[in-house]
Amino acid sequence: MANDNRRIPFDNEAVLEIIRDYSNDTIYFKDTDSRFIWNNRAHAAQFGVDDPNEMYGKTDFDYFPKEFATRARKEELEIMETKIPLISNIERLEKPDGAVIWFSASKYPLMDSKGKVIGTWGISRNITAIKAFEEELSRTNEKLKRLSQVDDLTGLFNRRYFYEMTEKTYYQYNRRAKTGDENDPKNTFSLISLDIDFFKRINDEFGHNKGDDVLRIVAGILTSQCRKSDMVFRIGGDEFMMLLPDTPLKGAKVQAERIRSAMASSPIMLDENKDAVRLTVSMGISCYSDCEDVAELIHMADERLYTSKNLGRDRAT
Ligand code: GH3
Ligand code: MG
Repeated sequence: MANDNRRIPFDNEAVLEIIRDYSNDTIYFKDTDSRFIWNNRAHAAQFGVDDPNEMYGKTDFDYFPKEFATRARKEELEIMETKIPLISNIERLEKPDGAVIWFSASKYPLMDSKGKVIGTWGISRNITAIKAFEEELSRTNEKLKRLSQVDDLTGLFNRRYFYEMTEKTYYQYNRRAKTGDENDPKNTFSLISLDIDFFKRINDEFGHNKGDDVLRIVAGILTSQCRKSDMVFRIGGDEFMMLLPDTPLKGAKVQAERIRSAMASSPIMLDENKDAVRLTVSMGISCYSDCEDVAELIHMADERLYTSKNLGRDRAT
């Protein structure tokens, strides 16, 4: 009696009617043959049925695609056998018109007052809008991730991603070194640090915009000289980095020479009234096999680039 004032002021029948008529979540009760014995309006409405009583005695096979109904029946048999409910199961339903609807569905064993299983009951919520939002969010995240890795000006990967990838690659080869053949020249990778020679003069003579064009053109040349697995980064200004997987120092030198000669054979036309510009680059190469850690690997490539500059540019060290 103490609980009386906490009771809902309706009888059981009225409560059921409220749930039947006003719940936005779909609710149903089924017998042991998975035939509907009670369902609410929201449940009927998803099949275009106005009066839920019409569904009495029918099964999922009368309303859902066969595959969906078969799976549901299997789940219900298991729930009745184990008495373990299925909670917040995400269900995908493709309508005949191709529209896809998502549900979050829970199913429970239906028991009589003695605890005997007499069927199942379930409740499900249409989460299509939430799903669409999640997918949109995940697409946006992917886009943001790509943007955070790319240099705006050239479309190459950027400085941040260079450090991330070099570190990642370094540890990948460390793991490989423990298991693989250390004499296999492929079990190593190299870096080429690259800087355009006298780039400032381009800006000074042709203006900053033409300078930007040159950076894009050089980016294109570097990319065109690469294998698919190589990665090219713009670190900043006129400084680039190349990460060459499965490449020993010797292979990286060949690659650097290829870049040098591609630059030599790519005069760049910046002003119709002037001669085409011939640009050179200086490079420094380092190899995973010669370094103790990532910092040394990067530092060595930069140091050697500096050496190339000091030795007269247009070369790789
Ligand atoms: P060095 O041979 O010693 O490399 O000579 P350099 O003239 O290329 O000198 P440095 O590499 O130190 O200078 C790079 C210049 O690149 C400096 C700056 O004016 C220019 N720069 C940096 N970022 C950009 C950019 O985004 N666009 C353009 N157009 N120029 C840039
Ligand atoms: Mg430079």
